[in-house]
Amino acid sequence: CGIVGYAGERQAAPILLDGLAKLEYRGYDSAGLAVRNGASDPEIVKAKGRLKALAEKTNDGKSLLGDCGIGHTRWATHGEPSVENAHPHCSDDKNVVAVHNGIIENYQELKDKLIRKGYQFYSETDTEVAVKLIDYYYKKYEGTPVDALNHAMIRIRGSYALAVMFKDYPEEIYVARKDSPMILGLGDGESYLASDVPAILKYTKKVYYIGNLEIGRLQKGNITFYNLDGDVIEKELVEIKWDA
Ligand code: GLU
Repeated sequence: CGIVGYAGERQAAPILLDGLAKLEYRGYDSAGLAVRNGASDPEIVKAKGRLKALAEKTNDGKSLLGDCGIGHTRWATHGEPSVENAHPHCSDDKNVVAVHNGIIENYQELKDKLIRKGYQFYSETDTEVAVKLIDYYYKKYEGTPVDALNHAMIRIRGSYALAVMFKDYPEEIYVARKDSPMILGLGDGESYLASDVPAILKYTKKVYYIGNLEIGRLQKGNITFYNLDGDVIEKELVEIKWDA
């Protein structure tokens, strides 16, 4: 129900835990983080229940090293609250690792297709289907993350705020949005994403609003936007006037 992301020079995990705490008001039943150190595979830690359980599992984030990561608090819609169903979800080879808010309406049809293509599923979530669909298109067309996300977005019906890390693109996070809230924040040499402004207000007041069916590419201190055709689109950087 809440998502956060960070790509910059600082350690990501404590910033992600702090951002998720600011989104606690949205409600949740479990939480998780994926953090990566340079080109290494993201390390994923999840916990059922309060954020405190996730903080304890990661020694307040200190045991998860890396300056790029995504975090999630889940409000279960598909599958019971459990560690298996908690986000992040990933493809078997960790090529795609992602968190998701929203509901994939046609997940069963997409899941059946992916099972026919050889994919295995370990959770009951609609989210795992979206993650593996992105992985499928990334490999099928051998294109960029933006191409893979565009292909997936054309097939997915429903709502989503997605934050995705791709194995081949260290220090970057990709986002896609339709009918679920998400904002992006720009700092000095760092980039943020969150479901809502309060999660990042302590770190930056410069915010982009991403539209429906748009994609964002977060690099350290740089954010680029794309439409469904993969064309770069320009966005206004908005200065938030209120305090945390
Ligand atoms: N539909 C997804 C799930 O049940 C995401 C729920 C959410 O927005 O937290 O895992």
